[in-house]
Amino acid sequence: MRLSQLAASIAESPTLKLNEDAQRLREKGEAVIHLGIGEPKNKAPISALLSSASRLSTGDVKYAPTDGIPSLKKAIIRHTEETYGRLVAPENVIVANGAKQALYNLLYSLLNPQDEVIILAPYWVSYPEMIKMVYGVPVVVTPEDGSFRPRLADIEQAVSSATRAIIVNSPNNPSGVVFSEKFLADIVDFCERKGIILILDDIYQRLIFDGRPLVTAFKFTNRDVESTNLVVVNGISKLYGMTGFRIGWAVTNRRLVETMTNVQAQTTSCASVILQAAAEGALTGLQSYVESLRLTIENNRNVMMQELQSFTGIKVTKPDGTFYCLPDFRAYNQNSVELSHFLLQKALVVTVPGKEFGMEGHLRLSYAGTVKDVTEGVARLKWALDPHAPSEIYIGDRKVVRDWL
Ligand code: PMP
Repeated sequence: MRLSQLAASIAESPTLKLNEDAQRLREKGEAVIHLGIGEPKNKAPISALLSSASRLSTGDVKYAPTDGIPSLKKAIIRHTEETYGRLVAPENVIVANGAKQALYNLLYSLLNPQDEVIILAPYWVSYPEMIKMVYGVPVVVTPEDGSFRPRLADIEQAVSSATRAIIVNSPNNPSGVVFSEKFLADIVDFCERKGIILILDDIYQRLIFDGRPLVTAFKFTNRDVESTNLVVVNGISKLYGMTGFRIGWAVTNRRLVETMTNVQAQTTSCASVILQAAAEGALTGLQSYVESLRLTIENNRNVMMQELQSFTGIKVTKPDGTFYCLPDFRAYNQNSVELSHFLLQKALVVTVPGKEFGMEGHLRLSYAGTVKDVTEGVARLKWALDPHAPSEIYIGDRKVVRDWL
């Protein structure tokens, strides 16, 4: 069968694929530890479940406005006001099936073929593929100093007459780094001067550690929401650990929201009203839930850092937020795909190759699971790679001996 060249060129989502591989191994009874996962183990907030159940029990589950049910939009407006200090109108908000769809609709609405979008390495795996899916060109900027912190000077060099947008994701997946306020202020100023759209993927925004204040680039514009060229993308997936509910949104000027709504109307229509009700319940319910989730993840981050300290040869930047860190494993293998496969085969630990994020030689390790996952997972990685680690280990009930170092 002949397929579209464009569709056939789109890469499989490596993270979703890894989840499936791990699940298959688990079903075979293997003691797999998943350090690849991007979701915490929590249950959804009770306010979300009740709100969604009450909507379901009315039996009134029909098409709703494409851009979101009014009561959820109201909750998003309040969230936006509290988070960004901006009062926006319902016409500035579009609800989508996850932040992922909000981003896709946005790129579809902004780009003409061959328009360029700057993404900052390490970047979220879906950015380049989504840009290509709407006939755009991803332009990757990698910090020259080997850090995970982008510099405006590097970005300026990558800008051309075809640059339409820049995507900024801080706190960052996969590095866990929070970009400096100075960088955020500078990039807002730069984009406003150059007429470049600045896309703020704020999905991990509240998942920050060490008493850091919540800082978002949206705070650095004086323009009102109608004249801004900033677009905020956000959602409930990471904020409440409600990944499977698939609700996200974008906030920006009315014209762009209108265009995105038309795109969504012709593809998926509204997001499920039952799930929108759940998102509304989460946003309007007790917010101590967010803090307790954040504290759990911060504790997991501390355990991960502690365990990695005695891992000879690897270098790690301590994450300021998110569920992830991105240690440099080049002392063991320059090829992260090969290394990740080796670790799954030998140690039954899932990691995500840094190559997928534009950082070859690194592996993304997630600490979204349990403390036991983190300690046992890292112990197995050390056993497989570090000659200083004991050569015998238990994997599940099996005692295994390392015979390759
Ligand atoms: N942006 C980033 C940086 C992400 O890591 C993710 C999820 N992994 C998303 C967006 C998509 O989130 P959602 O579940 O709301 O589609």
